[in-house]
Amino acid sequence: MPHLPAILEEIAAEMAAAPERGRPADYIPELAAVDPNQFAISVALADGQQFSAGDAATKFSIQSVSKVFTLAIALGRLGDQLWTRVGREPSGLAFNSILQLEHEQGRPRNPFINAGAIVVTDAILAGHAPRELLGELLRFIRTAAEDDDIHINESVARSESETGHRNMALAHFMRAHGNLLNPPEMSLGAYFHQCAVEMTTAQLARAGRFLVNAPGLPHLVSATRVRRINALMMTCGHYDGSGDFAYRVGLPGKSGVGGGILVIAPGRASIAVWSPGLNAQGNSKLGTEAVELLARRTGWSVFG
Ligand code: GLN
Repeated sequence: MPHLPAILEEIAAEMAAAPERGRPADYIPELAAVDPNQFAISVALADGQQFSAGDAATKFSIQSVSKVFTLAIALGRLGDQLWTRVGREPSGLAFNSILQLEHEQGRPRNPFINAGAIVVTDAILAGHAPRELLGELLRFIRTAAEDDDIHINESVARSESETGHRNMALAHFMRAHGNLLNPPEMSLGAYFHQCAVEMTTAQLARAGRFLVNAPGLPHLVSATRVRRINALMMTCGHYDGSGDFAYRVGLPGKSGVGGGILVIAPGRASIAVWSPGLNAQGNSKLGTEAVELLARRTGWSVFG
């Protein structure tokens, strides 16, 4: 793809000039303080080449993008048993909604909404101390990215622990239904810390290569699992904005309220984009616009 560096520079320049940038998440105080004028995009190709544009050396809070890695670990550990505790359908509701949980007896719709991700973390915690699980998560991400300089930001984790009452409500509600096996504080502590992992787009794009399914790339999970994780990213990775993302970008993606998005072009590339301003569904506004342009200019949509 000889034009890729030029395409990325063009997109970064267009995003730098964007008048409407969305608003950074403000319910986690540490995230509210991030400068909304930043933008970065990185692409790691199946053949090993990598290209970036914008602030690709700046670390950001990956937040819900971490749910892709915990899901991969959970499927490796529990296999299909995981699906007794969490579904595989889009929710059509906000990432932190509690509405469906009561109707559906404490079984979350999918592993990417908060309730579902808390269950996934709870499932892989079983029998381990949160510190061990977080160590395993960091090892997984560092191996995938081939980079040991990836860490958890304790201030962000603390900031969310002190203010995350909605997540506490979700966890306690699921515990009341017997769908949380550890004390809620323990599963939540691990969950808040996994969300506080920090990476640059260059690191995240490299870490995402395990989902590309191409020869020569890290095979941390089986090809079948990769396909299934990509299917969930396509249908549920952007919460109640998942349909819109599929329509506009045509690639599986997972967003986080830190403004990051991991996007996979199966067989071709792993893409990471970051801009802190969010749209109404809590997904990066310029990040979505940027990958929409990238998919159009490269012709990478899975829909042809
Ligand atoms: N830590 C965030 C929360 O639980 C993650 C949400 C997100 O990134 N969409 O609210």
